[in-house]
Amino acid sequence: MKADLHNHSYFSDGFLSPKEVVRLANDAGCNLFSLTDHDTTDGILEAQLEADKLGLNLVNGVEISAFWRNSAIHIVGLGIDIDNDMLQTGLEFNQNLREARAERIALDLWRSGIKDALEKAKKISGGHMLTRTHFAQMLIEDGYCKDMKSVFRRYLTGKKPGGVRVEWKSFDEIINWIQSAGGKALIAHPFRYRMTHTKIKKMLNEFKDANGDAFEVVNANSTEQEISLGNEWSENFDLLTSIGSDFHGWPNQRVQIGNLADLPNNSRAIWSYL
Ligand code: AMP
Ligand code: MN
Ligand code: MN
Ligand code: MN
Repeated sequence: MKADLHNHSYFSDGFLSPKEVVRLANDAGCNLFSLTDHDTTDGILEAQLEADKLGLNLVNGVEISAFWRNSAIHIVGLGIDIDNDMLQTGLEFNQNLREARAERIALDLWRSGIKDALEKAKKISGGHMLTRTHFAQMLIEDGYCKDMKSVFRRYLTGKKPGGVRVEWKSFDEIINWIQSAGGKALIAHPFRYRMTHTKIKKMLNEFKDANGDAFEVVNANSTEQEISLGNEWSENFDLLTSIGSDFHGWPNQRVQIGNLADLPNNSRAIWSYL
């Protein structure tokens, strides 16, 4: 099984259309693929059309912003019914938070002498949903930073210019939106939240207590040690395992669709339960 269950299109902060992303997945030899844009399912119909043409198995997905102990945590929903009211009402709530946040980011950047950030970011997003990535691109284009890594170090986080706190909903609510739509809820990229292993385990434990289903054990940037720890924790916390590249298709990004290590223990793989 070659699965890649975490990818983005330009309906959130990816560069490519859903159609292009699906084609890349097919070219890479994926048997199972999911488009998981941030807080929106708007790209899925286009992805489904292309997947049907190519005979690629598409899983409906979304990556929802959640809040746990003062950190933004990403919860991926897989196998969701995109027409479900509870889910779509939740996604609209997050989309509104994003719009309000974008205005506050722009105001905060303006206070640091960076003008017209909102207009420029909107232009880059092509009218699709605004993410911090669009502000990051704007800051790179205007010469404030040289790449994504340095932008997120100097701007858009914590007390840095453009750093705006958002209180997303808690695990229980997000899991409920996803499961009401018939999907499975999983924590995305657990090693990317700047947490100690002890704290990651606490997070997984509380996620399980909130009826969460799984977490991503394999990512494009996973080390061998992370994969084996993830596998161990999936057993300890009785959570299923998932795999996804978190492909965005940005220029200079080395991450490729479907270019992933194998899940160590196929019996717990989420695809058997979707
Ligand atoms: P948002 O969901 O609007 O808060 O934007 C978060 C997105 O920004 C993530 O999904 C990543 O794609 C991107 N991002 C966050 N931190 C970094 C980073 N340090 N380097 C590159 N991209 C990042
Ligand atoms: Mn992203
Ligand atoms: Mn994420
Ligand atoms: Mn992602």
